[in-house]
Amino acid sequence: MDTLALLGGKKTINHAFKKYNSIGKEEVEAAKKVIESGVLSDFLGSWGDRFYGGENIQLFEKNWKEYFKVKNAITVNSNTSGLIAAVGAIGLEPGDEVILPPWTMSATATAVVIWGGIPVFADIDPRKFTISVESIRKNITKKTKAIIAVDILGQACNLEEIMKIAKENNLYVIEDAAQAPGVKYKDEFIGAVADIGVYSLNYHKHINTGEGGVCVTNNDKLAQRMRLIRNHGEVVVGQNGEQDIVNIIGYNFRMTEVEAAIGIEQLKKLESLIPPRVAVAQRLTEGLSGLKGLLVPEVEKYSEHCYYMYPLVFETKELGLSRAKILEALAAEGIQGIRGGYVNVHLQPMYQKKIAFGKGGFPWSYEHSRKDVSYAKGICPDAERLHEEDFVTVEFCNYEYSMADADLIIQAFKKVWANLDKLK
Ligand SMILES: *Cc1c(COP(=O)(O)O)cnc(C)c1O
Repeated sequence: MDTLALLGGKKTINHAFKKYNSIGKEEVEAAKKVIESGVLSDFLGSWGDRFYGGENIQLFEKNWKEYFKVKNAITVNSNTSGLIAAVGAIGLEPGDEVILPPWTMSATATAVVIWGGIPVFADIDPRKFTISVESIRKNITKKTKAIIAVDILGQACNLEEIMKIAKENNLYVIEDAAQAPGVKYKDEFIGAVADIGVYSLNYHKHINTGEGGVCVTNNDKLAQRMRLIRNHGEVVVGQNGEQDIVNIIGYNFRMTEVEAAIGIEQLKKLESLIPPRVAVAQRLTEGLSGLKGLLVPEVEKYSEHCYYMYPLVFETKELGLSRAKILEALAAEGIQGIRGGYVNVHLQPMYQKKIAFGKGGFPWSYEHSRKDVSYAKGICPDAERLHEEDFVTVEFCNYEYSMADADLIIQAFKKVWANLDKLK
């Protein structure tokens, strides 16, 4: 057997993998046209036609809602802004609780805190990494108002069960679909399944506008509330006679005309960007199946997977080696874009110290907030253990791996696995 590169042998992979880039000449042309027109944004923060943005914004939203087969699409300047608009739109009150997983981007939880809400973290499914339905059930209290289901790594959560729990308990469901554009659950695009779905268009997502996001909903009232929050709604409600002004504290979450024009071109490409990535993922799964102590991805029932990242689990106890050591050996073979762990948002200092607004600890210290909400280490044992010990991703969001790259990655894994005892 060949000597591991880490121990002085030859590397398996000797070329740099291609960086992922979804932007082409169509986007350049579209952006140029807008810039030449001189109208880089056409929003007005007062009531009237332009309250809903200019030509490109309105066309992008029309195309988005047609593509995703949903009644309303509301562009915003990021998924973070979209989540803030979504949580505001459902009428969250200070002290209300929102259940969400710890494996997500920090913004999913801060969108709750911004409105004085209390994030409550439910554990993840140890094989699919999506929020655990069982853990959601355990974390429901009288204060629970919503669930944020994060379609982590590129697949849907167990939406069938989550929507059932929501119905039984009268909760809203917001889907953070940042990592899973174009993925279907049963026959519907995710995002449209829940009350509100929020997509990201930041630069490392499948399609991007640099920064950007889109909220989708079939509920016209929630859509209008998100449009108000997007565009200085508190000054607009007096002009258009809006009655329900709870949480209509307007921000400026507007996307520019340039980004919308780029987005129109990017959306056309989404359909063709996903299948090659899925094919590479399937190749990896076939090639890596059967290696002892290595678990390949399991996909949620009824869901597709678009592989924002490709997840693996190293059963480090069984292997008798640390993840770091195995990763070191794989990286030495020349694999790029492979790393261990995922964030656990509940362990961030803001939650550990329960300090957000001011020194007094609002919203946790607020009189209507439940005082025994815990962010202690141990509340999400599977998420914590996987982060610390066993979880690994291949960064499909940063590299455009070819089938030949996949074959080399498989070869490198097999070589390392055949030599594991030499790493001890
Ligand atoms: C990328 C991402 C976000 C944030 O998106 P932005 O558009 O950068 O604000 C939120 N949640 C998840 C799960 C993400 O992957």
